[in-house]
Amino acid sequence: MKSTKFSGRVINKMQLKLPSLSANEGMARAAVAAFCAQLDPSGVELADVKCAVSEAVTNCIVHAYRLSEGLIYITVSLLEGRVAKIEIRDRGCGIVNVKEARQPLFTTDAQSERSGMGFTVMESFTDKMSVTSRVGGGTKITMYKVFRERAT
Ligand code: ATP
Ligand code: MG
Repeated sequence: MKSTKFSGRVINKMQLKLPSLSANEGMARAAVAAFCAQLDPSGVELADVKCAVSEAVTNCIVHAYRLSEGLIYITVSLLEGRVAKIEIRDRGCGIVNVKEARQPLFTTDAQSERSGMGFTVMESFTDKMSVTSRVGGGTKITMYKVFRERAT
């Protein structure tokens, strides 16, 4: 079930600022996963987080800063209740129509054989995902992942 409210207290937080180089995509996903590991997620949950982060960071590299290089800002907050809040922000070109961009199979880059499934992956691999964007100003993706209680 997809939760909609995440109001737990922040118990730990990290921030990363990386240039939009494809070499940093692996770094970003590994760093976010390593930070989330302190909540003792399952392997599947951690793999979900990695996939979602990978899609968001790749979008910053190939879409937001496609004609230039810029910075990608990543913030991960661990909230009470075994929740990770992951924010991935760029100051790139922005998205003209967010609702359309979020549709499965929608892509503005079919020539590069993109499938238009990045937002769908982010949405389905997390418990909540929101997108805010301003043309010319950049885009912010906010994702929440709830880690289930583990049997001891
Ligand atoms: P895939 O992720 O399957 O390789 P894709 O990147 O085109 O293909 P999505 O990740 O779902 O698909 O993104 C859909 C569209 O939204 C993109 O084609 C692009 O036009 C736009 N978009 C996504 N993220 C950004 C961003 N950070 N900045 C600017 N435009 C973006
Ligand atoms: Mg994508």
